[in-house]
Amino acid sequence: MIELKNVSKWYGPVQVLNNCSTSIKKGEVVVVCGPSGSGKSTLIKTINALEPFQQGEIFVDGIAVHGKDTNLPKLRSRVGMVFQHFELFPHLSVTENLTIAQQKVLGRSEEEAHAHGLKYLERVGLMAHKDKFPGQLSGGQQQRVAIARALSMDPIVMLFDEPTSALDPEMVGEVLDVMVDLANEGMTMMCVTHEMGFARKVGSRVIFMDVGGKILEDCSKDEFFNHPENRQPRTKEFLNKIL
Ligand code: ATP
Ligand code: MG
Repeated sequence: MIELKNVSKWYGPVQVLNNCSTSIKKGEVVVVCGPSGSGKSTLIKTINALEPFQQGEIFVDGIAVHGKDTNLPKLRSRVGMVFQHFELFPHLSVTENLTIAQQKVLGRSEEEAHAHGLKYLERVGLMAHKDKFPGQLSGGQQQRVAIARALSMDPIVMLFDEPTSALDPEMVGEVLDVMVDLANEGMTMMCVTHEMGFARKVGSRVIFMDVGGKILEDCSKDEFFNHPENRQPRTKEFLNKIL
């Protein structure tokens, strides 16, 4: 489904991704963790071409992200992305947030986009808030709208970049619940998160990145959590801090 081959990226002289390779199969939930500045956000943003990279290859469902002739808007429409700070359109209602890209990018009619968007709003439990504006919702509710908005585009994979780390603690659970449901329904997901409970519950694999943009570990959840003797010293140090 997703294939990264020897991806490297530099900002000027600073290398932020160092020869990263991995692949994600349909239905897998891959959790990406690691210290601040290790390139986690950069890595997942390369997958929907939000970040260019200088070396290597990335394929999403066979489409070459690095290809010169790749239709990027089309590619991005298939890859759902949820950010730390929700990034909803503040001047649009919840319903408009859910429908605008469906109409503009996928060419759906207003009626069709509404029906589709509201189906996902219902699924994240926020139907009662459909006419509100993002500023009238809690952080947890905004993030659930952001997830519903991404799902409304019928993505083949969902990318999450620390979706709960800007939330008050009491709101983390409601967002994780939505993500767990998605994972259990078989959605292919790549999630940057330090919520190790989530990783243990639904993760298929864990990728650990270290400073300098290197993938230091890429292993099964069982291997990651239950066999510390096989982990790199840097990984153990990190796990000791966050667990
Ligand atoms: P965090 O856990 O803090 O979110 P991260 O692992 O997501 O960190 P990235 O945001 O991917 O890390 O950043 C990787 C490196 O790239 C960092 O050293 C950062 O300073 C650098 N970087 C990110 N964006 C830019 C930019 N626009 N220009 C220059 N350097 C950048
Ligand atoms: Mg980040």
